[in-house]
Amino acid sequence: MVAPAFSSSVALSNRPTRGANAVCNRRPVRACASKVSDSEWQERLSPAEYVVLRNGRTEWPWSSELNGEKRDGAYHCVACNAQLFESDTKFNSGTGWPSFWAPVEGAIKLKEGLFDRLVGQREVSCASCGGHLGHVFRDGPKPTGERFCINGITLRFAPKIEGGGDE
Ligand SMILES: [Zn+2]
Repeated sequence: MVAPAFSSSVALSNRPTRGANAVCNRRPVRACASKVSDSEWQERLSPAEYVVLRNGRTEWPWSSELNGEKRDGAYHCVACNAQLFESDTKFNSGTGWPSFWAPVEGAIKLKEGLFDRLVGQREVSCASCGGHLGHVFRDGPKPTGERFCINGITLRFAPKIEGGGDE
């Protein structure tokens, strides 16, 4: 006899949980992203997003359709929705990863470990949720000379609405 493997306390599901998480998703992200546990990130993110954002892995080059994105708009963190980059700092680096010469002010954090120093890079992560985004190198175009080489899977592009009349 095999007992049914039911238990209300371990209802495993990959779907976003309702309740606390759903509320958190509607609030300003900065206020709640830092409180998200690792298991919650696993639920919120796809497996591919999770290994990049939370485990610091790198997506395959040319795998992101944002490589060819040329419209005006803003690039947000796919995990917490913070705005990270703007389209007017995006450039074609030819590397196979979406590249920018500057982030939105205050949107990212930089870290430089020993390996990073050896290869001339710094790790780039989201200042709001701490998610790994990519690396920055010092071979970028003017005016900054920096190349933010970002995993496209960590970004969500929001095209600028034509005739929005933002002023
Ligand atoms: Zn984030």
